Amino acid sequence: MSLLVVGSLALDTIETPFGKAERTLGGSATFVSVAASYFIQPVRLVGVVGGDFPKDDIEFLKDRGVDLEGLQIIEDGKTFHWHGKYHYDLNSRDTITTELNVFADFDPIIPEAFQRSTYLCLGNINPELQKKVLLQMAGPKLIVADTMNFWIEGKHDALLDVIKHINVLIINDSEARELSGEANLIKAARRIEEMGPKTLIIKKGEHGALLFHENEMFSAPAYPLESIFDPTGAGDSFAGGFIGYLAKTDDISYENMKRAVVYGSTIASFAVEKFSLEGIKDLSYFEIKDRFNEFKRFSSFDAGEL
Ligand code: AMP
Repeated sequence: MSLLVVGSLALDTIETPFGKAERTLGGSATFVSVAASYFIQPVRLVGVVGGDFPKDDIEFLKDRGVDLEGLQIIEDGKTFHWHGKYHYDLNSRDTITTELNVFADFDPIIPEAFQRSTYLCLGNINPELQKKVLLQMAGPKLIVADTMNFWIEGKHDALLDVIKHINVLIINDSEARELSGEANLIKAARRIEEMGPKTLIIKKGEHGALLFHENEMFSAPAYPLESIFDPTGAGDSFAGGFIGYLAKTDDISYENMKRAVVYGSTIASFAVEKFSLEGIKDLSYFEIKDRFNEFKRFSSFDAGEL
């Protein structure tokens, strides 16, 4: 099996009530591929950075089994920069700046060896670029895509065009409401399924995630954490864990997707415990497995008798 991830690589400035990190490694493709690398290696990555992108970050990605053949480095350009500021409850954030920089002229070129990848994750980037990627692929078995309010508002038609062609859309609750025009999440899911994706995952932050597939629904809890430092990348880590597990097991049945949702939530729970990428830089198989098992313990119960 092979997994291709396309998305942003960023230098993020992050402010939370607990501290501030400046120009630290981030981006949708970064979080997705690092999260997925715990399930499948190599993870093929396509993206773009500027000459200011730290060499240490390149080495870190390589060490995590990320294949950077498709990474374009524009020596005289600047890396994508995002600045986000979280509110006290960490459930909501304001985007202070989004500087596309090298992403403004990015033309995603999928190396020939990557075009036959069986699993494709279209991380959160301009949907016009997501479409360009789709046009170069030779029929992946599963296409998962992520997006955010920035594109729902700014590139609405292009987004509607791309989601017609994908199998699984991953978005958060406010984005699902915005995209569908429905306040109720069940109704929103139905509307979005009509737009194309037969499977939809709605993330609800500290309240877990909902998986919709045809007429079925699965509700996964979030891991109850005592200390959350920085929610940045939680959604992308979720997506990486989800698609990484599906690619590893090469099983896209609904039952296996439920397990994949819990693996996605497991990796996301590590991501939010520390700043930026720190929480998922160096996990062990046992840490992941233990937390996955705890998810199972927290959410199962004996039906008893009435
Ligand atoms: P998440 O917290 O999962 O929504 O992802 C946060 C990551 O998304 C950060 O590391 C940002 O660099 C990246 N990001 C934020 N805005 C955008 C955007 N408009 N396009 C692509 N990536 C973005």
